[in-house]
Amino acid sequence: MTADDCVFCKIVARTIPAALVYEDDSVIAFKDIKPEAPVHLLVVPKAHIPKIGDVPEDQQALVFHLFRTAHRMAQQFDIAEDGYRLVINSGDNGGQTVHHLHIHVLGGRFMRWPPG
Ligand code: AMP
Ligand code: ZN
Repeated sequence: MTADDCVFCKIVARTIPAALVYEDDSVIAFKDIKPEAPVHLLVVPKAHIPKIGDVPEDQQALVFHLFRTAHRMAQQFDIAEDGYRLVINSGDNGGQTVHHLHIHVLGGRFMRWPPG
C-alpha cells in the first residue's frame, strides 16, 4: 500500500475525518473508529512509515515521541493511574490491518492476557 491510498495518511491530510485528540509537527492521535475498550486511541506518526521495523535509524527520537505521546494521552483520558495497554501490531500474523505505523492506547477496563 502506498501513502496515496493509506487511510491514516488521509486522516493526517484531513481528506477523511477522525476524532482527533492530539496533534503536533510529527504525530497525530485520534479515537479508534471501532473501539475495543472504553478508551481506545491511536497514536500515529504523520510520516507514512508502514510498520515499526521500518522506522529509519535516524528517526529514533520519533519512536520515543510516539510512546511519550501515548502516555500523555493515557493521562489526558484518565487511564494512566489505573493502568492501560499499548499495542503495536506488525504484519499479518501480528494482526496489522492498517499499514501505517500506529500505537493502540487501550484502557478503562481490565485488559486480559494473553491477547487473542
Ligand atoms: P491494526 O489492526 O493494528 O492495524 O489497527 C488498525 C486500527 O485502525 C483498527 O483498530 C481500526 O478500528 C482502526 N481504524 C481503521 N480505520 C479507521 C479510521 N478511519 N478512523 C479511526 N480508526 C480507524
Ligand atoms: Zn500512511
